[in-house]
Amino acid sequence: MYSLISCVIIQKVFSKLCIMFKLNNLCNKIEEQLPAKLVNFMQKAGQIADNQEQGLYLVGGAVRDLLLGQSTLDLDMVIEGNAIDLAQQLADFTEGKIKIHPRFNTANLKWDKWSIDLTTARTETYVKPGALPEITPSTITNDLSRRDFTINAMAVSLNINHYGTLNDQHGGTDDLEHKLIRVLHEKSFTDDATRIWRALRYEQRLDFHLEPDTLRLLKRDIHMLDTINGDRIRYEVECILGEKYPEKILHRAEELGVLPKLSPALKGNKWLGEKFQQTREISSPDTTPKNLYIALLVYPLTSTETERLISFLRVNKVLAQTLRDTINVKNKLISLTDPELKPAVIYHLLHGYSRHAVIVNAIASNLPIVKQNIQLFLDKLRYVKPTLTGNDLQKMGITQGLQIKKTLQKLLEARLNEKVNSKQEEIKLVEKQILANK
Ligand code: ATP
Repeated sequence: MYSLISCVIIQKVFSKLCIMFKLNNLCNKIEEQLPAKLVNFMQKAGQIADNQEQGLYLVGGAVRDLLLGQSTLDLDMVIEGNAIDLAQQLADFTEGKIKIHPRFNTANLKWDKWSIDLTTARTETYVKPGALPEITPSTITNDLSRRDFTINAMAVSLNINHYGTLNDQHGGTDDLEHKLIRVLHEKSFTDDATRIWRALRYEQRLDFHLEPDTLRLLKRDIHMLDTINGDRIRYEVECILGEKYPEKILHRAEELGVLPKLSPALKGNKWLGEKFQQTREISSPDTTPKNLYIALLVYPLTSTETERLISFLRVNKVLAQTLRDTINVKNKLISLTDPELKPAVIYHLLHGYSRHAVIVNAIASNLPIVKQNIQLFLDKLRYVKPTLTGNDLQKMGITQGLQIKKTLQKLLEARLNEKVNSKQEEIKLVEKQILANK
């Protein structure tokens, strides 16, 4: 009851302040665009920070998206103080789940549909290009200066006296208005070349342009991608494949010479765009078919090139197998072009490979007969099994292990080619074989 009354009071105070500050203040936008539950949460966070006399800010993508009128489920908050302490109090308030990372003084709070990263304001120093930076606690001003692009380097104050005030010290709103991706300083891509991939991702997602100087720096620093380890590049690739139209980013990456840094034979061409589109059409609308996308991306590679990429990106075992299988099935596709193929042959050509690899080959091939044969395997053949088991065969008098195996294989072939269609017919076939062997 007490907490309900206190929430109402806080909301009233915040609404009054909203009316008072108009210029450079986003509190109206916050109220209009964000769900009341989230607004309430941010106000509570501001109140806790006030009690501790610490500055608290909404930062990064959430501010960018707020200004663009887009919604987001991932929020970043920065406190000029102890992020873990704040996260714990907010977890109590929301009854959400927190994960804390004492080494980095950060925490993540998952509550309702939101994921909120809380960090302590910090300065980053890059001792060596590509390596992770050294971190020291700092102010919001310095924290914004360590960020990737102007449109991601804005903060909105959540403390009661400055509630909604926008800190835009790097000209992010101007760049949003002019649809520009701009780095904050000359050495940005040298310090952290993952920003090259990030730049292309935002440029294509938002339909923006790389600001001319940023484009020049990006081209100059493409070789700095060599300083980044495979895990960090894999993370960027995963983010790209999680976008709505990853092919746009891959196309741009090829155009600028970034894609070959991943593997020289990769293509971000029209073919890939068409195949990604077909992939979306056959996938459920609420999932992102990342594994199919990446398998289509590696499709032009040889087995050796694929192995090299797998080990550089250190992809997990399941995905590695999918990528290997994709290339192995591709190398067999010629055998699937025969319209007279018996179902058992199709089965043996495709059986044992990862399902995603088989699907990708159906998408990748332009030959209707290949697509048809693969579809038959996916829809029907891969589920076919004889009804009789090894035990049944033993009861029928086949006792040798090898003989049982051979008979089961024969039954499977007969089932696949529809020579037998019932248990009775299987029994007849086995009896015929026993007689023949006598
Ligand atoms: P989205 O999740 O919509 O792609 P985001 O801006 O929330 O966008 P995150 O990757 O979650 O992206 O990063 C949060 C913020 O952290 C960014 O907005 C940016 O300010 C900063 N950031 C992330 N990665 C880097 C980086 N490599 N260099 C500098 N700043 C970064």
